[in-house]
Amino acid sequence: MSDYILVLDAGTTSTRAIIFASDGVPAASAQAELTQHYPQAGWVEHDAREIWDKTLACAREVLPQIGGAAMVAGIGITNQRETVVAWDKATGEPLTRAVVWQDRRTAPLCAELREAGHEEDIQLRTGLVLDPYFSATKMRWMLDNVAEVRAAADAGTLAFGTVESWLVFKLTGGAAHISDASNASRTLLLELEGAAFDEGLCDLFGVPSGALPDVVDMAGELAQTDARLFGRAIPITGLAGDQQSATIGQACLAPGETKATYGTGAFILTNQGEVAPHSQHRLLGTVLTQIDGRRTYAIEGSVFVAGSLVQWLRDSLGIVEVASETEALARSIPDSGGVTIVPALAGLGAPHWQSEARGVIAGLSFASGKAELARAALEAMAHQTYDLAQAFAADGTDWQTLRIDGGMAANDWMAQDLADMLGLTVERPAFIETTALGAAMLAASGAGLYPDLQNAADKMRGKLTRFEPKMDDAVREERLTRWRKALSAA
Ligand code: ADP
Repeated sequence: MSDYILVLDAGTTSTRAIIFASDGVPAASAQAELTQHYPQAGWVEHDAREIWDKTLACAREVLPQIGGAAMVAGIGITNQRETVVAWDKATGEPLTRAVVWQDRRTAPLCAELREAGHEEDIQLRTGLVLDPYFSATKMRWMLDNVAEVRAAADAGTLAFGTVESWLVFKLTGGAAHISDASNASRTLLLELEGAAFDEGLCDLFGVPSGALPDVVDMAGELAQTDARLFGRAIPITGLAGDQQSATIGQACLAPGETKATYGTGAFILTNQGEVAPHSQHRLLGTVLTQIDGRRTYAIEGSVFVAGSLVQWLRDSLGIVEVASETEALARSIPDSGGVTIVPALAGLGAPHWQSEARGVIAGLSFASGKAELARAALEAMAHQTYDLAQAFAADGTDWQTLRIDGGMAANDWMAQDLADMLGLTVERPAFIETTALGAAMLAASGAGLYPDLQNAADKMRGKLTRFEPKMDDAVREERLTRWRKALSAA
């Protein structure tokens, strides 16, 4: 029976193909690392051709393991968001390297637009802030600095897209140039309630609207793969940006339900229902789902440094050999001995948005050692999350429970510390790959295996582990006091 779902998960550091059975259990997977290009300080690029070649190779590796393309009901795609690919519609080839979400090269352009007084209006219309993180200024940079991109724009053959858009173009043999609403909502070119990219915003950023994809639903018969790729045309039935996909994978489908992903950075999203959110506290408003033309929204807060702090302890300080050792180190002492880390190694994200802030280690004494530093690093995750919880609450969104995932969520000590500091139940699914699972849920409902997304989520979501808060208020207060003190120094 063709009731398997093929998920293509094109992330920042790697791309993967995972096949899910209709009950959400993974049946096969393949993964390939992506080359990171750093041509200058603050610049991060990917080779879009490599993303496509490796994603296709992964798909071709897993399909035979379940009996081939005939067994697949639909393809779901999830991807690193905001990253811009520019290609030529006529040749189907990239015109330059993709500019990755982490890339800061357009900071001067953002500053210019801010000085010209556009920030408030942009924020109101798009739900986003004026920051190099988002796609529009990256597109503009390519037009201004890459002759091939400008020439294709002049010739009318330029195509811009985020990574899912690029993959769909290649998967359909160039037949479809589309972007799903969740990815489109990260470009600065879509109004939160707009059905298509906005002409006024395109003019403001200097992006020709003709180069942009059509904005489409996130589930349904969205496109068909070129039959030559897998021996048979497969419908593409689910599309979502990675954080929206993880939110769906955690079944946060009702207003107030919240997930936090702790990977390299941390991304927290709360479902806001059908009303477009407008944060007063520098959180982002973003599209969570669009199905049959109807949208639900989320508020999002991102922390730039999460697991990468543990990586730094490992690679730059040599305090641990593997990231998971931080758990035993944290447990080996009753407290951090007053050591507090502010992980502003790459500035501070929401709700602070201080790109010039830098990291702080406060409270060192001769008694401070590896264990104190490891514990302080893990504690910093709960501190950063606490600040976001306050900002979400100030925007009128109180978290009921927190559903966690991402590589760092495997750390039981950190999960318990989050529950303790937030005073909330923390839930962790047994299957931690919620990003891929969310795309599978979308694709399964889009392919008609389930009547709707809620049904798909009910059937495909796995078992949970719960962490209940048990910390004394006095201990929590002491932690927050030292955190705030250290934060002011950052
Ligand atoms: P991404 O998807 O952003 O590449 P992952 O979700 O794979 O990241 O998470 C990897 C990150 O989590 C790494 O930065 C690593 O340092 C951290 N990490 C992984 N396992 C643990 C652990 N048990 N304890 C603390 N940190 C961890």
